[in-house]
Amino acid sequence: MSSKVILQVNELKKHFNLGKGRNLKAVDDVSFDVYQGETFGLVGESGCGKSTIGRTIMGLYNRTDGQVSYGGKDVHELDEQEKFKFYRNMQMIFQDPYASLNPRSTVGEIISEPMIVHDLYPDKKKRMERVYQLLEEVGLNRDHATRYPHEFSGGQRQRIGVARALALDPDFIIADEPISALDVSVQAQVVNLLERLQEEKGLTYLFIAHDLSMVRHISDRIGVMYLGHLVELTDSDSLYENPKHPYTQALLSAIPIPDPDVEESRERVILEGELPSPIDPPSGCVFRTRCPMAMEACATTKPVWQAVDDNHFVACHLYNDDIKDKTPIKHKPKQLN
Ligand code: SF4
Repeated sequence: MSSKVILQVNELKKHFNLGKGRNLKAVDDVSFDVYQGETFGLVGESGCGKSTIGRTIMGLYNRTDGQVSYGGKDVHELDEQEKFKFYRNMQMIFQDPYASLNPRSTVGEIISEPMIVHDLYPDKKKRMERVYQLLEEVGLNRDHATRYPHEFSGGQRQRIGVARALALDPDFIIADEPISALDVSVQAQVVNLLERLQEEKGLTYLFIAHDLSMVRHISDRIGVMYLGHLVELTDSDSLYENPKHPYTQALLSAIPIPDPDVEESRERVILEGELPSPIDPPSGCVFRTRCPMAMEACATTKPVWQAVDDNHFVACHLYNDDIKDKTPIKHKPKQLN
């Protein structure tokens, strides 16, 4: 990982207007940087806005406010020529490999398509050579080029998706839940493949997932999202060894540890209640309706994004020295009338 920032997301908002004055705040004021050559993991429950961020970075959704800069340029302000170049450099791998592959095209046609659109390898023979090379790079073989997606297993289909994403030789890949639809036994193989390709090609990844246990293995840094907000960001080891935000602590405590003694003595943080609706998010801290540590200030004041350690950031009043009364509401003595 270099110290060069390749992607900057700055106070990004993506709201969807649902009509009748209703606004779904899928992403609200999210900021982070991604360094060249790193894997930045973005995690959170489904519906937290992480995939919307990926799609807004790709320009598949218009932003509501804020900026996404790639290589110093605002991706939502690119002219047609710049957009063409941007889509060569940035590619996406999707969650459901079957739905993202055209069932009527052969694997060779699927992988060739981006090359044809971008006028790479206009000579068909050379283009097919490139297809064979890509198939081999992702652990398939050249005979697979004439087959159709339904002839492959889920893991193989995701390999085809990876080969297609690599066809234009990109610098940056957004992997949107690339292993969630796969069997556990296959997930590690796809993660290993992505890691190997990163090493060989110097790729940068934005790896979106809801499963914190798998994200740890591939990510250099991780951002945790809740209801459209980034609540914690730090390097992978610090997040797992010293999580600061009550939501991250709850997510981590739900991951089983394969040691019965440790598992038995662990304290579990159980999250109560459902994820609130992003159409009508709670006031103050959006996590307060489920937070075991929620205090009075949490209902009225939005927590600030602050550094709690080197490269460790969190949005939570527990770490804000200006908030004096930090007694959790649940533990406060009831007032007698
Ligand atoms: Fe919990 Fe309050 Fe921190 Fe939000 S700000 S996570 S409600 S303690």
